[in-house]
Amino acid sequence: MTKSEKLFQEAVRYIPGGVNSPVRAYGSVGMTPRFMQGATGPYIFDVDGNKYIDYICSWGPMILGHANREVLTRVIAACEYGLSFGTATEIEVDVARLICENIPHVEMVRMVNSGTEAVMSALRVARGFTNREKIVKFAGCYHGHSDAMLVSAGSGVMTAGVPDSLGVTKGATKDTLTAVYNNLESVQQLFASNPGEIAAVIVEPVAANMGVVLPKAGFLQGLRKICTKEGALLIFDEVITGFRLSFGGAAEYFDIKPDLVTYGKIIGGGMPVGAYGGRKDVMEMVSPVGGVYQAGTLSGNPIAMAAGLTQLQLLLDNKEKYKDLARLGSKLYGGMEELALQYELPCRVNHIGSLASLFFTDQDVVDYTSAKTADTAAFADYFKYMLNHGIHLASSQFEAMFLSCVHTDDIIEETLQIFEQYLQQKK
Ligand SMILES: *Cc1c(COP(=O)(O)O)cnc(C)c1O
Repeated sequence: MTKSEKLFQEAVRYIPGGVNSPVRAYGSVGMTPRFMQGATGPYIFDVDGNKYIDYICSWGPMILGHANREVLTRVIAACEYGLSFGTATEIEVDVARLICENIPHVEMVRMVNSGTEAVMSALRVARGFTNREKIVKFAGCYHGHSDAMLVSAGSGVMTAGVPDSLGVTKGATKDTLTAVYNNLESVQQLFASNPGEIAAVIVEPVAANMGVVLPKAGFLQGLRKICTKEGALLIFDEVITGFRLSFGGAAEYFDIKPDLVTYGKIIGGGMPVGAYGGRKDVMEMVSPVGGVYQAGTLSGNPIAMAAGLTQLQLLLDNKEKYKDLARLGSKLYGGMEELALQYELPCRVNHIGSLASLFFTDQDVVDYTSAKTADTAAFADYFKYMLNHGIHLASSQFEAMFLSCVHTDDIIEETLQIFEQYLQQKK
C-alpha cells in the first residue's frame, strides 16, 4: 500500500470523504487521491516521492508557478509582524489601489476570504442596489456553494430554481432563475416572464466549471445590452478568469464592462482571498457606507494580502506573460487537438489562453447539455494514464487545465509525448 493510500484510509475516519473539498477525493475517476507534500515551479510532489507536471495549479491561484520566491519572501516578512490584527492596515489599501487603478470597471473593491463569499456578497449588493430579488444564472456555471447558487439546471429556463444539494431550502433558491449558456433568448425569456424583478445576471464570462466552455461571439455583449435595457446588473464571476485571461480578466479580454465582478483564486496568490468590486455607486451600498451588510473577521488579512499583492504586482509588471501563457496554451492544447485527430479520438478541446478542457465527446461543447454528452468513463481512463505517467490533471471531466508562467516549451512537449503514448496504447 502506498503512503497516499494509507493516509486516505486514515483521512476518511476523521474528514468526510477524507477531503476538505469534494473534487479532491477522485470519486469521479474511481481512484483514491494522491496526497501532496510540496510543489515548486510547474512541479508537484506526492508523499510517495512521485513527481508530476502540475496542470491544476491549485485550481488556478498558482499562475506564477508554485513557491514563487518573491511571494514567499514577502509572506514570511509579513508574518514577522503578526498574523492578524482585525483592524485596518496599509496593505489593504495597496491591494485595493492596485486593482482599481489597473482595472477600469472596478472603482471600489471589498476583500473577503473565498470566491463563494465574493459571489454571495455581490448578489446581496445587487439586490440591495436594484431593490429586486431575482437572480439569473446559467446552467453549468459554478459560483461557489452559497445556498442561492446551488441550483440544479433541472428543467431549464422558466422554472424557479430547485436545490441541487440537501440542506438548501426551496426558499433559498426560489429567486434563482436558470438560463442556458450561450443562449441569449433564454435570458430574454426570463426577463419577459419576470418583469422588473431581476436584480442581476451572473455569469462566468468563460465558463470553466462544466469544463471550459467559451462564450460565443456576441453572447457577453448581448448580456450587457439586455441588463442595461432591463435595469439589472451584470455580474462577471471572474474567480477563474480574473488576472488569468488578462490582468483585467475576461472583461478586459472581451472589452465588456460588467457592473460588478467577483474574484478569488489568483487574487490571493495561494492564500484564501476573494473580492468583489465594480461601480462606485453600487459598491457604496456596502456597509458601513450603505445599507447592505457584509463583514469578515479575517477579511483583508495581512498575510493573505502580502501574497496577493506580490503576485498581482508581478503580473502587472510582466504583462507580456499573458502572451506567453496564450502561446503555451495554443501549443499544448492545439497539440492535443492535433494528436487526438491523428489518432481518431472523438473529442473536443475547448481552450482559451491558459485554460482548456478535453471533452470526450464528438459534439461541440457550447453549454451544459452538450458538456454532459462527454464520456466520463473514457475521461477516467485518460486521467489514470496521465497521472501514472507524471501528469497531474483535475480528476473530473468537468474541470479545467491550468497553465502557469513557469510551464516551459520543454514541459509542454513532454506532456504531448505522454498524451501521444496514451493514444497509442489505446489503439
Ligand atoms: C472556484 C470558484 C468559485 C468559488 O470560489 P471558492 O474560493 O472555492 O469559494 C466561484 N466562482 C467560480 C467561477 C469559481 O471557479
